[in-house]
Amino acid sequence: MENKGLRELYIDELKDLYSAENQLIKALPKMAKAASSDDLRSGFEEHLEQTKGHVQRLETIFGQLKENPKGKKCKAMEGLIEEGSEAISEYEDAVLDAALIGAAQRVEHYEMAAYGTVRAFAEELGETEQASLLSETFEEEKQTDEKLTTLAKEINPEANQGEVDEEGAKAPGSQQNKNKSKRVA
Ligand code: FE
Ligand code: FE
Repeated sequence: MENKGLRELYIDELKDLYSAENQLIKALPKMAKAASSDDLRSGFEEHLEQTKGHVQRLETIFGQLKENPKGKKCKAMEGLIEEGSEAISEYEDAVLDAALIGAAQRVEHYEMAAYGTVRAFAEELGETEQASLLSETFEEEKQTDEKLTTLAKEINPEANQGEVDEEGAKAPGSQQNKNKSKRVA
């Protein structure tokens, strides 16, 4: 086996992230389209623009390293996106939004872990400028995760209310009404 060092590991992990970010560029418009909350939809659209910037930062780094960013497929991101699309087919309305937030937060946490790792490698390798580019992306992933947590605080209670009709009244058979009748019985 070829004796690869930390620099090779760093480049391999950057390639993995390049694949992950490019997969997300394809997935985020589908997640935005599936969202019923306007805030969630615009959140996904905003993060799509940020994600294009993440790809550009990686391209800048690959340019500095004189390496080709292509050649790896991030299987972890493939799996996370796959689970997100399962949610799209299984749920609807606010419950779907709650599922989309969960899927998106899994993605953001994966990216935070990956960017934290490559940033530490860049620092160790003396690539200070690259470390700070990777830090910028890390911070944007973290802010996105925090925004999703805030959105979940609005959306989870809606998802727990069951169907709401046009006037905003709870439809019979909603989860809360079911619980109530259970308690009465
Ligand atoms: Fe990203
Ligand atoms: Fe992200």
